[in-house]
Amino acid sequence: MNTRPHTGSYYAATVNEVTDFAPLRGAQSADVCVIGAGFTGISTALHLAERGYNVHVIEANKVGWGASGRNGGQMIGGIAGEAHIARHHERDVEEIFGALRWAGHEIIRERVDTYGIDCDLKYGYVDVAIKERHMADIRHDYERLHAADFPHEVRILSREATREATGTDAYIGALLNMGNGHLHPLNLCVGEASAAVSLGATIYEHSPVVDIQRGAKARVVTADGSVTADAVVLAGNAYHYLERKLRGILFPVNSFMVATEPLSEETVATINPRDLAICDPNFVLEYYRLSADKRLLFGGRLNYFGDDPKLIEARHRRKIARHYPHLANVKIDFAWGGTIGVPINRVPQLGRLSPNIFYCQGYSGHGVNVTHLAGQIMADAIGGTLERFDLFADVKPFVVPFAHALSKPMVALGVLYYQLRDRL
Ligand SMILES: Cc1cc2nc3c(=O)[nH]c(=O)nc-3n(C[C@H](O)[C@H](O)[C@H](O)COP(=O)(O)OP(=O)(O)OC[C@H]3O[C@@H](n4cnc5c(N)ncnc54)[C@H](O)[C@@H]3O)c2cc1C
Repeated sequence: MNTRPHTGSYYAATVNEVTDFAPLRGAQSADVCVIGAGFTGISTALHLAERGYNVHVIEANKVGWGASGRNGGQMIGGIAGEAHIARHHERDVEEIFGALRWAGHEIIRERVDTYGIDCDLKYGYVDVAIKERHMADIRHDYERLHAADFPHEVRILSREATREATGTDAYIGALLNMGNGHLHPLNLCVGEASAAVSLGATIYEHSPVVDIQRGAKARVVTADGSVTADAVVLAGNAYHYLERKLRGILFPVNSFMVATEPLSEETVATINPRDLAICDPNFVLEYYRLSADKRLLFGGRLNYFGDDPKLIEARHRRKIARHYPHLANVKIDFAWGGTIGVPINRVPQLGRLSPNIFYCQGYSGHGVNVTHLAGQIMADAIGGTLERFDLFADVKPFVVPFAHALSKPMVALGVLYYQLRDRL
């Protein structure tokens, strides 16, 4: 089976360390075998290694090869599908989620400090409003944070203050949240992988898993080897292809990014003087921020399935120029795409396929934060503490109709549907 190098992203071009873990060969054994080395897999492995487990992680391509090494790097609080989970458990949303919404941020901050991970972590984020109904959501979020004594600066910005912060007239207001932030996601993922290895974890790259044999001890099989383990965690998210059930409960939604050339200080002052991450509220959304070397990293969803950098560049250039006419001819150095796993009810999918085979996927656009929390919850579940795991696992996922046969047309229809809804 072919394995693939990193996509041509800005992140891959600026990664601190090009990982080079040997493929899996021969018969190995572990306490826990994790399949997939994105944030979910690596975060789970690091939590387990910190608790003394012998963990082996098997990755088809490279550490951070999937969405985790390609994303907008926006560290956004909250968990998609909260209301659905609360309804299912007949409990108040705040009672369940008060402490969980920012738990992933805290894990990231601690890891950056503890392991000295250089991933350009910065704080400051705005949720911008395009329509009056978005302002109502912003006011609601503001009041909720205020009532919960949120320990970071949170402020509603007027239209004028939003224009000053974002350099564009596109928005009618915003919520500034200095508890959210942004980072270089591939450097975070690779740094966490090194931390896990320093604590005894083993990582194999270029090793697509082709079979999982169930049993009191499970056997995870690749072309040239196997790992026998007491427990297995499937962390392939939208790139998972092995277990039919898991492929059938997620919408794979593509999102695309470009990175411009580094911008001058004067230009930066006109578009994002406070170095904030900016995200709009649409489903077919736009999200953007500056990199550490002052490139504009601009992302958005497109109804497109390929990975032609020229096409991604052309479409995103038009969007950038709508916000920043003076950047209409800016040089674009990198263009790439990736796939996000979106559950129909938006509830992150944590569960089991058998008593010792766990899975964890489907964070929609909130994966940077929620994967880190999910890794901790998976480590708890493997250790026998199931309270937070069951919050998610008890919510039955919706099956995506014809997901296997019609995945591309279904995604196209889904994106069109949401595009229409965004316009209302
Ligand atoms: C363009 C883009 C922008 C985004 N922007 C943001 C953002 O700004 N903020 C945010 O919070 N979230 C964002 N997201 C979402 C976020 O990146 C994801 O939710 C998160 O990275 C998912 O992590 P993961 O580890 O579950 O999956 P992935 O990172 O996709 O990793 C899955 C891994 O499993 C491996 N794998 C799959 N099958 C096998 C197998 N059989 N054998 C071995 N390995 C296997 C794959 O090779 C892959 O490396 C974005 C996503 C994309 C694509």
